[in-house]
Amino acid sequence: MKNRGHVPNSEIRNMSPIFMSPISKKKIAVVGSSNTDMIIKTAKIPRPGETVLGGEFHMAAGGKGANQAVAAARAGGDVSFIARIGNDIFGKRAVEGFIRDKIDVRNVSRDRRAASGIALIIVGRNGENSIAVASGANAKLSAEDVRRAGRAIASAKILLMQLETPLDTVRKAAEIAAGHGVPVILNPAPARPLDDRLLRRISILTPNETETEILTGIKIKRKSDIGRAARRLLNKGVRAVFMTLGSKGVYIASEKTSRIIPAFKVKAVDSTAAGDVFSGALAVALAEGRPLLDAARFANAAAALSVTKLGAQPSAPYRIDIEHFLRKMQ
Ligand code: ADP
Repeated sequence: MKNRGHVPNSEIRNMSPIFMSPISKKKIAVVGSSNTDMIIKTAKIPRPGETVLGGEFHMAAGGKGANQAVAAARAGGDVSFIARIGNDIFGKRAVEGFIRDKIDVRNVSRDRRAASGIALIIVGRNGENSIAVASGANAKLSAEDVRRAGRAIASAKILLMQLETPLDTVRKAAEIAAGHGVPVILNPAPARPLDDRLLRRISILTPNETETEILTGIKIKRKSDIGRAARRLLNKGVRAVFMTLGSKGVYIASEKTSRIIPAFKVKAVDSTAAGDVFSGALAVALAEGRPLLDAARFANAAAALSVTKLGAQPSAPYRIDIEHFLRKMQ
């Protein structure tokens, strides 16, 4: 092993719980989307019919499902990803990325007729953006695909999903999980109303403020609205709500507790995928059996680290960095 600066190995072992007792990685199944984000930063977002020259191009792996799968894998989960990519270079590169992150890709299927998911993003000088998404193969992830991946879901400690794939697919996966007593975390993004039948199958919901408003019809204007909206979701049958509040942190509500766990103070550079990293890390912490408050702190730490870096998947932190950050912040 390389010598880590001037710190003796014995001290490293004492400092780091993951060196002391390697945690056996917990299985997490993620059902969701995979996209390639094509980003052009430009002085000005073009109007219809207008061409703007002088932009700067970046390409990055994205898609809420893939972002959460990668975040969970780096945070210490043994992740199996259930998704559909197209028969093109973008899907191939996305899968290569999952393999680098040690994600089980046996349930990532290649659709011969569809293109891989693509998001074209134009970012203006002041950070404002304009996004067009071609869902491609993501829109064809079917209930049958999920049924074929039934074993990965049944053997997981937790199933993690979002709403960038068809709702029937999400429903089928929740049904399989319920049949095997596997808790479901749903990150209800992009926002859309959901029926109570699906919500009753959700153990943990992780909406941001906008998504909460769409799910409950309650405008989040003041602090009391947060509690009211969370209670409405609990009344619909969700076991616990982790409402993410950006730089303010997260509001947790369950039968036993309701409180805000403040965010960590960091220098924010890019908040893309903060919610995805939060949900991915939360899944790992809960799969490891951590209590809700402890899990929220772990997820807050992972998400805070992600906002200090550019991009979606490139910004997801590794377990060792999350542990280190939490120790520093104690
Ligand atoms: P989304 O990206 O889904 O809109 P939020 O903006 O609510 O989600 O952010 C998710 C989580 O990321 C927050 O609960 C918090 O833990 C963390 N986070 C977001 N913005 C910041 C920030 N500026 N500083 C520290 N943590 C942040």
